[in-house]
Amino acid sequence: MKIVAAKRILKMNDQLAAELRDKFDKSSVFVVNIVGSPGAGKTTLLEALFAKLQNSIRPAVIEGDIAGSIDAERMEAIGVPVVQINTEGACHLDAAMIASAVQEFDLTKIDLLFIENVGNLVCTAGFDLGEHLRIIVLSTSEGDDKAVKYPAIFQGSDALVITKIDLAPYLNFNPLRIAADMKRLAPNSPIFQVSALKGEGMPAAADWLSARVAEKSNREGVV
Ligand code: MG
Ligand code: ZN
Repeated sequence: MKIVAAKRILKMNDQLAAELRDKFDKSSVFVVNIVGSPGAGKTTLLEALFAKLQNSIRPAVIEGDIAGSIDAERMEAIGVPVVQINTEGACHLDAAMIASAVQEFDLTKIDLLFIENVGNLVCTAGFDLGEHLRIIVLSTSEGDDKAVKYPAIFQGSDALVITKIDLAPYLNFNPLRIAADMKRLAPNSPIFQVSALKGEGMPAAADWLSARVAEKSNREGVV
């Protein structure tokens, strides 16, 4: 019998993720891992971001789904280069999947690569994908208690985007409650409240992200 400890798998993932990050740095590609539950509005947020990001930023997307290519088709429809990963049952992306997906891109033609993770608040928290930023997306309809129930994913995120804020008047969602939890779990991570469909709050989120991309490329210097 062979037993492979989960700890060892995670260690291998971390190692591969570090190599990926190095590769992204060398190619000047800024990478963002988007996590959140199924239906939180991750893909709709991406569509809204692409409409707001500066034209000088050349984006691409890796879509992670258990099956199908519905989200990738949405990216193709707005002209964003996309690679779909089908995990065939696996409930999160790992660094090996990303390493294989990025081979499909010409990284010299990309400035900002989004990885839309499989919808899941649990094990996505444990898998570094070589990203520079992780953004957690939480919709108002999921409830304001999620950071208490799934602390790891919130703790490891560099920003929280609360989506479907236009629905808040019809729901029991208290933004102050989640803000207090974020302050405890990830005190340096900003919170954005948006309606990706209606556009509310999107400029602030897009500006913040553009600033992060610019900050990184300035730090590395223009070659
Ligand atoms: Mg999606
Ligand atoms: Zn999983």
